[in-house]
Formats: sequence, structure tokens, C-alpha cells
Amino acid sequence: MSDLHTLGRWPRDRAIATPDRVAVDDRGVAMTYRDLDARATALAGRLRESGYGVGDRIATVTGNSSDQVVLFFACAKAGLVLAPLSWRLSPRELADQIDRSDPALVLVEEEFAALADAALERLPLPPSRTSLGRGGVEARVPAPTRRNLEERPLLREVRDDDPLLLVFTSGTGGAPKGALLTHANCFWNNLSFSRIVELNSADVVLSVLPQFHVGGWNIQPLLSWWTGATVVLERTFEPERVLRLVADRRVTTMMGVPTNYLLLAEHPDFATADLSSLRHAVVGGAPMPEPLLRAWHRRGVALTQGYGLTEAGPNVLCLPNDVARDRVGSAGVPYPHVEVAVADPATGEHLCGSADGELLVRGPSVFAGYFRDPDATAASFARGWLRTGDLVERDADGYYRVVDRLKDMFITGGENVTPAEVEAVLRRHPAVADAAVVGVPDERWGEVGHAFVVARPGTFTDAEELTAFCRAELAHYKVPRHVDFVPDLPRTALNKVVRAVLPTAVPTAPQTTAPLT
Ligand code: ATP
Repeated sequence: MSDLHTLGRWPRDRAIATPDRVAVDDRGVAMTYRDLDARATALAGRLRESGYGVGDRIATVTGNSSDQVVLFFACAKAGLVLAPLSWRLSPRELADQIDRSDPALVLVEEEFAALADAALERLPLPPSRTSLGRGGVEARVPAPTRRNLEERPLLREVRDDDPLLLVFTSGTGGAPKGALLTHANCFWNNLSFSRIVELNSADVVLSVLPQFHVGGWNIQPLLSWWTGATVVLERTFEPERVLRLVADRRVTTMMGVPTNYLLLAEHPDFATADLSSLRHAVVGGAPMPEPLLRAWHRRGVALTQGYGLTEAGPNVLCLPNDVARDRVGSAGVPYPHVEVAVADPATGEHLCGSADGELLVRGPSVFAGYFRDPDATAASFARGWLRTGDLVERDADGYYRVVDRLKDMFITGGENVTPAEVEAVLRRHPAVADAAVVGVPDERWGEVGHAFVVARPGTFTDAEELTAFCRAELAHYKVPRHVDFVPDLPRTALNKVVRAVLPTAVPTAPQTTAPLT
């Protein structure tokens, strides 16, 4: 197996080609490619000397930061796996992801110390934890304490098929699972992306997507660090600040989910903001509403739309700039080096022509599998093809349109939510006999959760109390925005909830949940 596609090479190559160009601008603090490579190389050496070896996971709980970029490339050079965990999770959810990624070390930014500690407290054998903060990540790496010496991984050279990123996602449905992307997966995803979105060392790329999602790395940021562009890294998405940054920093391209573009378009400064440097913007992760696309076109910014999922690396389909205006609503055509097929979801038979079916993906950027979950990995493939769980139709020109989801999942502001996860929490409430959650359309967030609750006779609760209960257990974006009480849930003969008809269920007033005496 070769090592030609390993990502540790990228900052090294850039440190030779464009040493003084800024690689990351983190809230006004610039790091050149020379610095990025030197710091990542030093940290990789430090990690290896401390005993971390190929395949070990380093988890983080941090906002977007240049320290995390250094850590990413240090992991790439040392053969470690970066597992960036979401700070939006509840302590219970975070504990679960720490447990399942089984990291040798957790690096925590001070801002999230309370959350991380509350999560680690729940684990019987917590991994080493250290702070990520002043003095740089290099100053903070302790030796691993959790390791059984006989299980030490080899300190060998890094290869293309070694895992590099462990990202939790429910992109193919079900509870969040840790998807492993290898060096080769990242390499090919970036190579194919570069054939559609051209970047070079003159580009200034604004990155607002969180680094705990694949989009925070494997779309524009990594391609930037391959091609020598400057990444202006934002911690959070603030529309007013983004519009100002685009003008002040002469941003040439950016990437976001539809909600980002909506919030920007709604901002009073949008109409007059100087967007003249923005030659191009990428939108993905959820369907982009047509009026919004047009609002951006009116401001002279062409949006390239992407469809993908973490397990696919993530890029699958793309609607390039030049055809976007004429094909509004389409998800586009496959990226180069990505092969797609459409299958009958019931039989798995591949379909020809324009019949609707499940989109399947194959290619070198498709993930290596879920970490330590061979059953879930096997279930996500059919005859060597990744099952996306998305229903598509293909038109006569070969363009695909996402028409529905086969999986139980909805997307709110770019974050995926699995209804079953929310329902399980609701059912733990003593006054809840049964619950079902569906995603319903929402202008701002794309979709939001709507819970239908059957109350336990002889108890009392209301929407407010259930919302508070969910907030303690779930990331806030998963908490249902609407709660209705219903006498029962519509079910099939096999006792499966019929989610499609739920939004038409006739609610009962919460007081009907009071004692039935
Ligand atoms: P990220 O986690 O960085 O947002 P992502 O959105 O590419 O990455 P996932 O979070 O894994 O990936 O979600 C994948 C799912 O999102 C797809 O299976 C599909 O249901 C939905 N999706 C992504 N892009 C689009 C799109 N352009 N149109 C419709 N649905 C989309």
C-alpha cells in the first residue's frame, strides 16, 4: 500500500511552495504554511514519542481553531485518528461518543470544560483529558495512561488506507455512528472537488462550518490547505460578521448549509454588502429552497450546490455554477471519480432509466466503515455500493433530484436528527406512554422536530415540561420545536408508527392527560 495519498504531505509541500502565505487566519491570528508544517511536524513527533501510535484516536471538544488544524495535520503525519466531537451535545450524548471512539486522549477547550467533565464523569474508565488552549496544542500533550502495553500499536509509517478522521453522523439513518475516513478517502474527495471548484494560493476561503462535521474539513478547508489558499476560520456563524468579513478580507469563496445562506440573505446589510470579491459559494448538506437560490443570484453570487453524506467522503453530486440557474431544484451530476447507481429499495435491483430509487455510491472516497461496528458497516453497503437512504429520480440528461428520504432522519439547520433518538428520550418521561417525532418544514431551519405524545393515564405533563426534559438529555437542535398530545399513534399492522400521517393527527389538549377519574 502506498503512502502517496497521505495528508501529512500537504503542509510539507505547501511549506516549500508558499511558505509565507497564510494558511489559517483564526480571529485575526495568522499562521503561515511554514508555521503550520513546523508545528504539525513537531507535534506529530511529540505524540509519537509520548507513545501514541498508528490508529490511536485523539478526541477533541473544541470550537473551530487553528490549534485543531495543527492537530489534524499532526495526526496525519503520525498516523493518528482525529475524532472531533460536537460541543453541541448533551453530557450524556458526548459521553456516549467518547466511549464509542475509545480515544487515547481527549483535548478540551476551556470553554467546554464543564460539558466535557460532565461527560467524562459518566465513564467508568475515562481516557486522559487535557486542556486545549493558551500556549498552543503542542504544550498540552501528556502520555497516554489508558493503554494496555501489550496492545500497543506499531509505530510504523503512515499508509493511504490508514484512518484519519472519525466523524459521528447519522447520515445513513439510525443513531449517530463513528464514520472512519482514511487518508485515501480524503485525498480522492478533495481531488474530485478540485475538478469542480478550482482553488489556488490566491484564494481566500471563509469557513464557518463546525469542525466536528465532515464539512468543516473535507470540502473547502482541506482543499485550501492542499492548494495554498488562505482559510479565514470562524468559530460560530454570525451573519453580520460574515458579511463584513467577506468585504474586508476580500473573501473569494465560502461554503455553508442552506440556513447559513438564508440568515445572510435576511440580514439588513445583505442588499448593500460588498460581495464583489465573492466569485463563488458552495451550499450543501440539505436541499436549497429555490427563492433563496434566486436571492443570491440576484446579488451576483452563483451558488454551486452539493449533495453528499459523511460516509461518502462526503461529496457525491454537484450542480455546477454554470448550470445552477437553469436547473433549480436539481442535486446535479456525480463528481468526477464518484460512481452512482439507482436501486429498487425493496429488492436492491439496479434500475435503468428515470425510475425513482435509492441512490447508491461507489468510489475511492467512500468511507472505510463505522468504527468497531461491523454490523452497521455491513448494513450500509449493498453489493459493494454505499446505500445513501435517499430516494432520487434521474432525468433524461443524467441530472439527479433528491425526492425523499428512505431513512428516518430530518435535517435542521444542517444538523441531522434521528427521530428514534428523540422518541427514546421522550418515552423515559414518567408521564409519556408513547411518542413519535417527525421533521416538519420550517422556513428558517429547513425542518424542525414535531413530537406527537400519548400521555400516560393518571399523569400530567405539558409541552413546556417535555421540552425542558429533552433539553437536559439532548443537543438543543434535537429538541422538538412543536409538541402535540394525541390519543394514540397511527400504527401499521406490524405495529410500526406511520410517520407520514402524523402531521395530520388531531391533537388533544394537554389537560386530557390529567387523571381519568
Ligand atoms: P455535514 O455533516 O458536514 O453537514 P453532510 O450533510 O454532507 O455533511 P451528513 O450529515 O452525513 O452529510 O448528511 C447526509 C444527508 O443529508 C444525505 O444522505 C441527505 O439525506 C442529506 N443531504 C445532503 N445534501 C443534500 C442536498 N443537497 N439535497 C438534499 N439532501 C441532502
